[in-house]
Amino acid sequence: MSITFGTMPHICTGGVTAAVEAYSPAGGLAHGSLDATAYVCPAHVDTARTMWTDQGLMPFTAQAAKPNTTRCGAITDFRDSTVTPA
Ligand SMILES: [Zn+2]
Repeated sequence: MSITFGTMPHICTGGVTAAVEAYSPAGGLAHGSLDATAYVCPAHVDTARTMWTDQGLMPFTAQAAKPNTTRCGAITDFRDSTVTPA
């Protein structure tokens, strides 16, 4: 599995409070595969959800796992184009 780190296009210095997870169908479940997570402040939760929806993914807003210094808009992408799901 590869992990790619990216950022959303907006610039924001807000504190990260939410992890907006993006799921795609796998194994017959609509949310079978966690593909990516965007870390955002309260003002950008909707921005992140729209971003994932536009990519055909199902957004799920979770609380950020712990207080952290991740900047708003940071993305961790778990999608690996070299692996085909069974
Ligand atoms: Zn923000």
